[in-house]
Amino acid sequence: MFSTGTDVTGIDVGPTARDAAEPHGTEGLVYQVCRWCGTASFRKLLCPVCASSDLESEHSDGHGVVVRSNVVNRYSRVMRNESLVRFPEGFVYRCRIVGAAPHLVTAGDRVRPVGGMTSEAGEVVLELCDPPRISDWY
Ligand SMILES: [Zn+2]
Repeated sequence: MFSTGTDVTGIDVGPTARDAAEPHGTEGLVYQVCRWCGTASFRKLLCPVCASSDLESEHSDGHGVVVRSNVVNRYSRVMRNESLVRFPEGFVYRCRIVGAAPHLVTAGDRVRPVGGMTSEAGEVVLELCDPPRISDWY
């Protein structure tokens, strides 16, 4: 659940900060596992395989791998990266990647949750585990 938002820490991370900066007690993500067929899903009301609503919440440490990197608003000041991230628990979700220039996030990069920025209902914010290779040194 969201609080009123008055306790936001003031970190300037853009216009969505109010949604994304909800302090969260536990690190990582909560995902769902279907009790019927065992399929893992994330933020779904029904199992994507058998459409059962009998889902059990499980906890993931939130570490994943970028499957497809996508830069949105490429030619504007609010350019950011939204990548499809595959989690070892078996689900894929579109997440916002920070900690690197948006165009330097590539498929295969390992990502992890940013402390306190992964909210229950807002967008999922992850950062690169390994900084991108610096290409401008000679
Ligand atoms: Zn199922």
